[in-house]
Amino acid sequence: MSLVFEHVTLGQRVLFGSGKAAEHLAAEVSRLGARRVMVIASEFEGAIADIVCAGISPVLRWHDVVMHVPVEKAEAARAAAAEDDIDLLVCVGGGSTTGLAKAVALTTGIPIVAVPTTYAGSEATNVWGLTEAARKTTGVDDKVLPVSVVYDAGLTLSLPVDMSTASGLNGMAHCIDSLWGPRADPINAALAAEGIRALNAGLPAIKADPQGLEGREQALYGAYLSAVAFASAGSGMHHKICHVLGGTFNLPHAQTHATVLPYVLAFNAPAAPEAEARAGAAFGTSGALDGLQALRETLDAPRALADYGFTDANIAEAVEIALPTIPASNPRRVTVGNLTALLAAATAGEDPKALADI
Ligand code: NAD
Repeated sequence: MSLVFEHVTLGQRVLFGSGKAAEHLAAEVSRLGARRVMVIASEFEGAIADIVCAGISPVLRWHDVVMHVPVEKAEAARAAAAEDDIDLLVCVGGGSTTGLAKAVALTTGIPIVAVPTTYAGSEATNVWGLTEAARKTTGVDDKVLPVSVVYDAGLTLSLPVDMSTASGLNGMAHCIDSLWGPRADPINAALAAEGIRALNAGLPAIKADPQGLEGREQALYGAYLSAVAFASAGSGMHHKICHVLGGTFNLPHAQTHATVLPYVLAFNAPAAPEAEARAGAAFGTSGALDGLQALRETLDAPRALADYGFTDANIAEAVEIALPTIPASNPRRVTVGNLTALLAAATAGEDPKALADI
């Protein structure tokens, strides 16, 4: 990689510490001088939010969270924020909850403090997403980047192992896709490599000991790095495909990323030797795909899109929507033919190695 590049580092305060979320959140609310806090957490995440918000006095609690942020849910939350004259949004939950807070911030400019409870990484990006009439739209706006993130691995102990695996592999997808994203550069490659190392260490530790903090801390640290790398490098081929599978076919976000990643890696790796070597070294294996597949095997990771309701009959429509969005900078030229083959293999859960030669 040539050492001529342009890199933007996004400004954000990160407070990391297991068991410290309530203390860190109260300190941030006070530092920001917020008086009218709206806490966003889904019904299920409400119990975690109760613990996290022990040291603050919100004026509004909001529970109506739906994955991929349907526009009408965003509008209802924006109206409630305006009615209560909210001056700070605190979101406690996974990427869907962070996504709703971002949708409110996008039109109101209200700052966000994010307290993530999965490894989705949305809290560290300036990317927003909204879904309307089965089309997911995403955009970039610094208004939606949380001003602070409070990371507490203890809050992820309740995330079941299968969801931890899928969510952690969503983080892994941020790392790998950022190695050939449209703004890939040496700084985000370094962040991505450290993210791969941390996730590759943390996720098997979670599987072995779901209630242990060590694996959870590594995974959360890796998730943060992965998201910073992704925000800087921009969406590559992998994210463009998954975006369509989630937005148009309503497939679950983390599981979809976990399933599709080895196919995109197998497809792109032969044309991206530097990225491949970097990822392989971070996995500690001779090849990136070998490292990823060994990890997926240890984790018993999601394997086939068919398991999530996607069928061969959906492939042509998915290809039609995704193909024009894949960056021209992708290391391999993507065509109707090879994208169809990639999705067919991912739908059936076939060995991704065959994609290297199509
Ligand atoms: P999610 O937020 O929908 O959470 C999945 C499920 O896990 C939910 O039922 C949730 O209530 C539950 N959950 C969350 N934390 C838990 C915990 N600690 N213990 C037990 N259960 C818990 O899923 P996700 O994968 O975190 O986020 C997906 C969404 O985030 C998608 O809409 C995606 O587009 C978005 N996203 C956006 C970005 C970005 O940069 N804008 C990045 C990643 C993901």
